[in-house]
Amino acid sequence: MNDCIFCKIIAGEIPSRKKYEDDEIVIFEDIEPKANVHLLCVPKDHFAYLTELNDRRAEMLGRTFSKIASLAPSFGLEKGYRLIVNQGDDAGQTVKHLHIHIMGGQELPF
Ligand code: 5GP
Ligand code: ZN
Repeated sequence: MNDCIFCKIIAGEIPSRKKYEDDEIVIFEDIEPKANVHLLCVPKDHFAYLTELNDRRAEMLGRTFSKIASLAPSFGLEKGYRLIVNQGDDAGQTVKHLHIHIMGGQELPF
């Protein structure tokens, strides 16, 4: 059984404040925002680490970065934003389903 919290959000089994969805990704608000705008971009394909990339996933991530760039102004990120991909314990990765933090809406103090 898959008890991944992001897979459950993707499946609609756990509620989230979705901002965007297509056949490859979903973008929703982080439940504990650490910036004025703090979104999570999550591929629908469940994998945890960049070491699990293959050609198909790498191409999907390429399209994902383009999509984030084109959507950013609609998220209130006209003045810039930061993308973070935590990998593993030292980075504090708590959810083992690859995700891109999208942060901004303010001058980031770190
Ligand atoms: P990580 O530390 O793994 O890079 O980031 C996981 C992020 O997921 C955290 O910022 C945390 O606040 C967020 N998060 C954890 N559980 C949920 C949830 O159920 N819903 C939403 N929207 N965000 C969550
Ligand atoms: Zn998952």
